[in-house]
This record gives sequence, structure tokens and C-alpha cells, in this order.
Amino acid sequence: MKIRKVLYSKEEIDKRVRELADIISRDYQGGELIVIGVLKGAFVFVADLIRCLSIPCVVDFVRVASYGSATVSSEKIEFKKDVEMDIKGKDVLIVEDIVDTGLTISFLAEKFKERSPNSLKVCAFLDKKHRRKIAFDADYVGFTVGEEFVVGYGIDFNEMDRFLPDVCVIEE
Ligand code: 5GP
Repeated sequence: MKIRKVLYSKEEIDKRVRELADIISRDYQGGELIVIGVLKGAFVFVADLIRCLSIPCVVDFVRVASYGSATVSSEKIEFKKDVEMDIKGKDVLIVEDIVDTGLTISFLAEKFKERSPNSLKVCAFLDKKHRRKIAFDADYVGFTVGEEFVVGYGIDFNEMDRFLPDVCVIEE
């Protein structure tokens, strides 16, 4: 049977998202930010984060496909949906749900750097930093987590559980 255990409650998440937004707003004070959310998992985080920012931002989304099973990130990554705006000369913040092996975010960072933004940073809601296959440090991290498979707050298990307000761990 599938049991969900709360890892981070809605209240803990709200508090952390406000803290992150304050830091980001301070870092980009006086500027304008292009927030690029990585679908689908980051859509809830993006929605909460941008509403806590005190600087203007525009929002776009990308979607990537990585081939492999649901729980094991694979090597082959490609765009399913690219951004719809020119990021040249702009301050860009990629917003990811989870940085795990680091392959997805490295792919995205490389692709966006080629388009000559003024700056490029990454905000990850969750960081599984001990599972990296490729070195990558996110500039802003919500929570550092272990190896457990998580769901909720936009993050799915076979497209289910995204609606959960808490971040939960699934235990069989
Ligand atoms: P990476 O390329 O860093 O290995 O993959 C990151 C992606 O793997 C995340 O955006 C997410 O889609 C998926 N992922 C990694 N860990 C988990 C997890 O615990 N739960 C879910 N649902 N997806 C995960």
C-alpha cells in the first residue's frame, strides 16, 4: 500500500518560499527578472515564488523530456517546449522543482547561456545534492533532501499527487 509521509508542510514551504523570494528580490533590486519555470513540476513553486517577489518579473516556461523510468533520471534530454521570448541581455532565473542528478539543469543552463543573457541563475525548490552525476550548484535552494522519492507541491507520481499542498515521501 502507498503511504504518504509529510516531509515539508504547507506552512514550512510558505515560510521558505517567502525567505527565498526576499533574498532574490534583494539580489536583483532595481532590475527586472525573467523567470523560467521548468514544467510540469515547478508550476506551483513558480506561482508562489513570483507572488512573493518585490521586483517586477516576466514568466515563461520550458518543458524537457528525459528518457527513462519515473524514478530514475536518464541521460537523454531534449526540449519539448522552449521559451517564447528572447532572453538576450536579460537577467534570467531558471526555477526547477528538483535538482537530482543535475543532468536536466545542466542541459538547460547550457542551452540558455548560448543565448547570451545578462545573467543566468538557478533556483531549485528541492536539492538532492548527493545524487549528482554532474557537478551543479543551484544559486538558491528551498530545501536540501536525501534520496527519497517525493511528491506534492506540483511534483508528481505518474501524474498524480501534484495537488497535495505538502511535500510528501512515498513509502510502499
Ligand atoms: P535530474 O536531471 O536532475 O536528475 O532530474 C531532475 C528531475 O527528476 C526533476 O525535475 C524531477 O522531474 C525528477 N525527479 C527527481 N527526483 C524526484 C522525486 O523525488 N520525485 C519526483 N516526482 N520527480 C523527481
